[in-house]
Amino acid sequence: EEFLNRLRLTEPHVKSFLHVSETVLDEADEIDRKIDRNEDVGPLAGVLVAVKDNICTADMPSTAGSKILENYRPPFDATAVKKLRESGAIIVGKTNLDEFGMGSTTEGSAYQVTANPWNLECVPGGSSGGSAAAVSARQCVVSLGSDTGGSVRQPASFCGVVGLKPTYGRVSRYGLVAYASSLDVIGCFGSSVADAGILLQTICGHDKLDATSSKREVNDFTSQFISKDYFESQPLKGLRVGVISETLGDGVDQEVVSSIRGAISHLEELGCTVTEVSLPSFSLGLPAYYVLASSESSSNLSRYDGVRYGNQMVSDELSALYGGSRANGFGPEVKRRILMGTYALSAGYYDAYYKRAQQVRTLVQKTFKAALDSHDILISPAAPSAAYKIGEKKNDPLAMYAGDIMTVNVNLAGLPALVLPCGFVKDSASSLPVGFQMIGAAFDEEKLLRVGHIFE
Ligand code: GLN
Repeated sequence: EEFLNRLRLTEPHVKSFLHVSETVLDEADEIDRKIDRNEDVGPLAGVLVAVKDNICTADMPSTAGSKILENYRPPFDATAVKKLRESGAIIVGKTNLDEFGMGSTTEGSAYQVTANPWNLECVPGGSSGGSAAAVSARQCVVSLGSDTGGSVRQPASFCGVVGLKPTYGRVSRYGLVAYASSLDVIGCFGSSVADAGILLQTICGHDKLDATSSKREVNDFTSQFISKDYFESQPLKGLRVGVISETLGDGVDQEVVSSIRGAISHLEELGCTVTEVSLPSFSLGLPAYYVLASSESSSNLSRYDGVRYGNQMVSDELSALYGGSRANGFGPEVKRRILMGTYALSAGYYDAYYKRAQQVRTLVQKTFKAALDSHDILISPAAPSAAYKIGEKKNDPLAMYAGDIMTVNVNLAGLPALVLPCGFVKDSASSLPVGFQMIGAAFDEEKLLRVGHIFE
């Protein structure tokens, strides 16, 4: 009730949700009754979880922020949602996002603009802006987002919460509306590292419904949060931390740089050995990401034809039905991505764009692998700036894309990364949070969570 009251109070200003469940209190009552009957209620009993609206829920609409899926109700739960329900969690609602996850501010939603709870004139980041804002405004305990090129980490930084992007394949994508399948991963928001880690523990693991989900054994991420001698044993002593030099130079706000430097000093105080590491291919990640993500999305989004899903423009003529449904159903950014992707994949341009971008991807993977062979974790800002004003970059797609420079390489390499708050940028009206990013070796979320927990 407390959460729902706060949600009612804050939602008219923040607008994190596209849909709020009407059965939250009933579900909570049912848990109470189970407790009375001494029945098992699961480790997350009664924990309110908000879910990004590109993740399928059988009992609520799942629009992916697009008009083309308006009123669409999937006949099934995504695997991550199913696991949450099995653990006793209550899904409080579906959160706003940039249409199909394409964007960095949540202004690209077909339905509403979400505001940053720290300053309502600013964006919450994106594309999982609704999920980040919901945790930041304490409208839920934790939330699910998705991260194709930074959509969990950048809004976590903008909203001052913890954001965790797992290794590619760690969490099943079954029921996640596909944007760029080789990059997409479901991620976690929480107001502490422990919360994000517990959420990951609940949703991860192999799933036969997603052929790319990993069969690797799932570590115990969470018992380290309750170990008694945790802080006494100097667990970070000798940990090798590499600061990516390319991420603290030109184009990054000075106040962001000084917040990151503060975080680095804190890590040194905790016993880490910090050195700078240069990743010369770092800046190539951004153009390669936009070629690959657009190419994959142009293929994935061909399924929205007005016949199989969602909105249809009725016509006797088949091509008008397809064309009209897509023209009305997709917003401008989605159309731009489809055009860019179709162009990059077309005969005659394929070698120059798609193939070249794949080569860059391999280079990025090798560079990160080498850096992580000689370091335990790598550090960078989560974004080159703090949150900015709503509308500021809306009509400048290239400026918007450039803001993803800190996060996209991690998706190209498939690595896990954790973002947590480390400072503020102040202006006359408000303080806006700044987050820093820790990148780990593939499937080593455990280490990221340990460092993050102690850092907190
Ligand atoms: N901003 C990036 C994009 O628009 C990343 C989005 C995401 O991670 N879903 O593609």
